[in-house]
Amino acid sequence: MSGSPRSVLPEAAEPGLRALVLGGGLAGLVSAAVACKHFDRVTLIEADSLAHADNAEQHAKHRRGIPQMRHPHTLVTGGLQAIESVLPGFKAEMVRRGAWDLDVGRDFQFFDFGAPFAHATESSLKSIGASRHLIQSTLQDEVLARHAGRLEVLDGWRVSNLVWSEDRGTVLGVELADGKRVEADLVIVTLGRYCRLPQWLEAGGYEAPPSQRVDCSLRYSSRLYQMPDGWAKDGPWLGHVTFGRPGGLRGAGMVPIEGNMWNMGLWGINGITPPTDEEGFQEYATSLPDQSVYQAIRNAKPLAPIHKYAGAFNIRHQYDKVQLPKGMVVLGDAYVALNPVYAQGMSVAAVSALTLDQALAAALAAAPAVGSAASGKVGDSSGSLEARRAAVRGMGPAFQKRLAAVVEAPWSIASSEDMRYPGTKVDGVATPPRWLGAYVDSLFRACHRDSRVQDIFFSVAHLTRPPHHLFHPHLLAAAAGQIVRDLKQRWWPTAAVAAAPTPADAVHAKAA
Ligand SMILES: Cc1cc2nc3c(=O)[nH]c(=O)nc-3n(C[C@H](O)[C@H](O)[C@H](O)COP(=O)(O)OP(=O)(O)OC[C@H]3O[C@@H](n4cnc5c(N)ncnc54)[C@H](O)[C@@H]3O)c2cc1C
Repeated sequence: MSGSPRSVLPEAAEPGLRALVLGGGLAGLVSAAVACKHFDRVTLIEADSLAHADNAEQHAKHRRGIPQMRHPHTLVTGGLQAIESVLPGFKAEMVRRGAWDLDVGRDFQFFDFGAPFAHATESSLKSIGASRHLIQSTLQDEVLARHAGRLEVLDGWRVSNLVWSEDRGTVLGVELADGKRVEADLVIVTLGRYCRLPQWLEAGGYEAPPSQRVDCSLRYSSRLYQMPDGWAKDGPWLGHVTFGRPGGLRGAGMVPIEGNMWNMGLWGINGITPPTDEEGFQEYATSLPDQSVYQAIRNAKPLAPIHKYAGAFNIRHQYDKVQLPKGMVVLGDAYVALNPVYAQGMSVAAVSALTLDQALAAALAAAPAVGSAASGKVGDSSGSLEARRAAVRGMGPAFQKRLAAVVEAPWSIASSEDMRYPGTKVDGVATPPRWLGAYVDSLFRACHRDSRVQDIFFSVAHLTRPPHHLFHPHLLAAAAGQIVRDLKQRWWPTAAVAAAPTPADAVHAKAA
């Protein structure tokens, strides 16, 4: 095992600015790398063992705190770019370890609204294809190796509560399950979807943040497959995503990962559960509106048991809307957890850690002025430490507001799409206007003919274009063209049938 974490409690407080990162998932690791730029000492606490294993299936057994690890994970462009800016060379290291260097527009086939999307020879949607295990272990090795002198890791330790100042105005650190305490100037909470921060805040006398929830009762069943011989070179696509829209509640995603494998996930929505038995799994694949996925796995060798997952609803805890104690920030799934079929969770976590980097830099840049006022001694080094301490302890509310703006687009994409499925349970979220749903549908259908529509449209979900680019002139024109086609089809169906085959038809024919 490379970069073996050190499971000992840190020495008693040393001088210098200290940060605690709670949780060693994706948000925790990228936040730890960010914290190492700004703090003298950083301690990451993780309940699981961070020991490596040889393969994805074995690794998932160590990471009981990341049960989604067995399921397909796509790191979209914005997330990859965010990690790359914190850890330059990350992508190259992933590829060196066997990840695919992907262009999503070129290498993936999407099937939605009854037809495949037009194929691009090149797009702006660059990504990597890898198991969550490879993403996680590469990130862990890179963060530990680059910050060995500053970062200590306590794995196998469970955080059980916050440690408060006497007046309860500041979080001073955390208590571990066996009662030990670890203290710091800033506690960065990245404990994932089931984080108990709202309960810990309430126990400290604070109001828990209001939460918004959109639950389409998503169920996953996933399995690893070996690609058939020659597929990587000659197959019609490397990855495939099938949605059952309009109206269908079934879908599938095949993500190419290291070792010429696919991690294939079948999903069902609002009452539909993909089976976990051999026969049922295959049968479910045949029930999808596109047979490409079934055709591919029919000739592929299954490599592991089928694993299931339930409970991946969209939830956002609005920490920006309540009074928070000093000394803490929260990000990753602990703040906003999304329906994974839109593949945004890891990227939102990475972009959020980058936002933390910017917020820390801004807070610390303003610190000397605070220090000179507080200590009355300009240039006094202990005063300067006090000023830096005050700056990081006080940054929480402003950071949570800034973060709320950053996650607004991915939250809106996932929650508003899920609200359109009949039977979805919605709590605390306004229904999006119907025209927006109709507009988005017309864009999906325009993707059947025009790969540039997919590139611009998906870039918003890939977090590389701002949300107003949903109304980019090319998309507005494509949506208008689609409406004209729809009207023609309604009034002159024969003209629509006679339409010439599109590049997408050609790709689909090749896949079949
Ligand atoms: C089925 C499925 C498929 C997904 N597919 C995708 C995808 O394709 N693309 C994508 O971007 N995202 C995907 N996601 C979402 C993605 O997994 C999450 O968004 C991402 O893991 C969030 O990272 P995180 O660090 O916030 O939380 P996590 O990765 O969940 O990490 C939280 C960490 O905190 C630790 N922890 C928890 N409690 C304690 C405690 N008390 N003390 C100490 N440690 C603790 C846990 O052990 C864990 O290591 C998927 C999710 C699911 C469920």
